[in-house]
Amino acid sequence: MPGDLKLKDLKRRERSSSRLMNVKIPAYVSAAIDRVARDLDASKTEVVIALLNEGLQASATALKGWPADTETRAAQRWCVVNGCREPHVAKGYCAAHYQAARRRKLRTAR
Ligand SMILES: [Zn+2]
Repeated sequence: MPGDLKLKDLKRRERSSSRLMNVKIPAYVSAAIDRVARDLDASKTEVVIALLNEGLQASATALKGWPADTETRAAQRWCVVNGCREPHVAKGYCAAHYQAARRRKLRTAR
C-alpha cells in the first residue's frame, strides 16, 4: 500500500455502490481496521474500501498480462514435425505424430 494514501482520495471515489458480502474476519484484522479508521478520521467502511482498492490496484499491476500470456503461449504451440500444422499435444508432437512416435518406439523396443 502506498504511504501517501489520503482520506480525501477515498471520499472522492464513486458514490454508486453495491453490496459485496457479509464476511467474518479475525479480531486482530478488525482491531487494525478500527485503528486505521480512527487515525484517518474515517469510517471502517471507507477504510475497507480503500484497502480493497489498493489491493486490486496492486494485483492488477502484479498480474499484468498474465492470463493473456498463458493463453497465447498455449495457443502458439505447434507440432515439431516439418509441414505439420496441428497443435501441440505431447513431447513436441500433435496427437497423430505423437501416436506414430509411440508406435515406432514400441516396435523398436521389441
Ligand atoms: Zn504433427
